Amino acid sequence: MPDDSIIEQARTIASQFLAPRAAQADQAAEPPVEQISRLAEAGMLGLTIPPQFGGEGASPNVVRYCLAAIASGCGLTAFVYYQHIVGCRHLAGSSNEALKERMLPALAAGSLICSLAFSHLRRPGPPPLRVRTDGDDWIFDGTAPWMTGWDLADEVLLAGVLADGRSAWALVPLADSEELQASPPARLCAMNASATVSLECRALRVEPQRHVKTMTPAELASDTVRSNIFFTALSLGAARGAVGWLRSSGASDQFPDLVDALDREIASVHAAVDRWDDPATPTDERGDATLLRARCIDLGVRAANAAVVVGGGAANGIEHPAQRLFREAMVYSLIAQTRDLRAATLDLLILRDEGVSA
Ligand SMILES: Cc1cc2nc3c(=O)[nH]c(=O)nc-3n(C[C@H](O)[C@H](O)[C@H](O)COP(=O)(O)OP(=O)(O)OC[C@H]3O[C@@H](n4cnc5c(N)ncnc54)[C@H](O)[C@@H]3O)c2cc1C
Repeated sequence: MPDDSIIEQARTIASQFLAPRAAQADQAAEPPVEQISRLAEAGMLGLTIPPQFGGEGASPNVVRYCLAAIASGCGLTAFVYYQHIVGCRHLAGSSNEALKERMLPALAAGSLICSLAFSHLRRPGPPPLRVRTDGDDWIFDGTAPWMTGWDLADEVLLAGVLADGRSAWALVPLADSEELQASPPARLCAMNASATVSLECRALRVEPQRHVKTMTPAELASDTVRSNIFFTALSLGAARGAVGWLRSSGASDQFPDLVDALDREIASVHAAVDRWDDPATPTDERGDATLLRARCIDLGVRAANAAVVVGGGAANGIEHPAQRLFREAMVYSLIAQTRDLRAATLDLLILRDEGVSA
């Protein structure tokens, strides 16, 4: 396990501040502003920002451990939070030094919040959001189908596809205008309070001062592999949250095998993810990132389902922690989905034991 006090801090905030407020946050009409402010106070919003811009410059595994801790306490907070730290990671890797100097210190401090709108790049078929050039400017036309944190985020990392197939990424201020219009927030079964909208761009002009980068499809595919490892944190966080609830409900006395088995499985999958993320691990010994993520998705859903079963009828109550974790674990099976991840996730759902009979 990486030795870092910030992980301990994330765990303390998760158990003492986020978890007690999680049911209310889940049912709220608005994103969890107070929770994000608490994370900002602790320096968590600058986790993926280098120290010279006021951030923590944390390693990828420290970032994962912190995100998992936050997800074990409150899925909604983790959901809104990861948009910000992912956006900051992309901006920190940009060669647009002026933009970094202007934006990253405020993003690290949490006085500016960032969201994302690029998952559509992974969809096959005609791009829903296209970009053309006009001199040095980029012009965005079309729809980004998903963006979380409308009214909370100040900026969005928006990406569309250029005529040559590369994607163009820009940091765009979030304000409703003729050129940029948000849909009403989607009604969702999980993360309903995340203020998730679609963004329609009508000849949205973005000047070079706001350009973050371009990526070839191959570079995007390689970033998606890394994303799969990053997103294991959400599912492992839900699994740990479920085991935590099982313990607090007394299930470890009643069903000791269940709690021990889940604990062991979480530790083993976590170790496999850490091994993948360890720069010292030779590439051919890392294992397949997509399969690892699928295993985490499967584990998160099963652990939360176990908590629901132990919770009994009461677990169907809308504020019960077990079914909230179950809904959260479910949505983590869709986030940053790719064709391969979808296939790997479904493969684990196929019952292979021919001996089962009614
Ligand atoms: C509550 C919520 C909030 C979200 N917030 C954000 C956000 O803030 N920013 C953001 O960028 N994204 C966000 N997303 C999107 C999310 O990360 C996933 O990308 C998305 O849920 C996957 O579904 P989709 O509708 O984008 O893609 P789908 O069209 O459902 O496709 C999913 C994947 O399956 C594969 N696939 C689909 N159709 C085919 C086909 N015909 N042939 C081969 N393969 C195919 C593709 O690889 C594709 O990537 C959010 C999603 C949800 C549910």
